[in-house]
Amino acid sequence: MPKTERRHPRGPAQPVEMDPSMWEVAGDDLAPALPRLVDLASEIGCTVQFEKLECLTDGYYRHDARRIAIHGGLSVNAQVATLVHELGHALLRAEPDAKDPELERAAEELVVESVAYTVCGALGLDTAGYSIPYLATWAQAAQIETIERTAGLIDRLARRIEDAALPQKDTEAGPREEKDAQTGP
Ligand SMILES: [Zn+2]
Repeated sequence: MPKTERRHPRGPAQPVEMDPSMWEVAGDDLAPALPRLVDLASEIGCTVQFEKLECLTDGYYRHDARRIAIHGGLSVNAQVATLVHELGHALLRAEPDAKDPELERAAEELVVESVAYTVCGALGLDTAGYSIPYLATWAQAAQIETIERTAGLIDRLARRIEDAALPQKDTEAGPREEKDAQTGP
């Protein structure tokens, strides 16, 4: 397994453990990341529940209840992608920075889905087919300069979630079951 020191060589959206074959959203290769993401949620005071949601709803975040719901009927990889998106909403509120820009609804969705796309890419999951149409929908309602002024925020949130989702560097040399999940199909 290659070293992970080059996790963030420069800027966001640098996939780690580069493998030419990206995981498909329909698969379950990212199962090891799911409990780590749930741990991150609990670290910021959020519960995650996997349940049956109405059609067309993959997940949501309720700030008043500090609760993330994920549609349990999704594939495991899609659950990971959805949980990363909802964690973006939660982290925006749980770990705000004084320099964060004000975000209206459309801008927040752009930020959060950009975070999800970045993190999923780092995990080796190809979500372009999901993220790009979603981003395009919200981009129509958001100012184009939103992307520019939120780039730092997207990078910060993406790194926070990536660090939680990926195996810890310290323990990486050990016999961790996650290794199998990253050797490619
Ligand atoms: Zn959202």
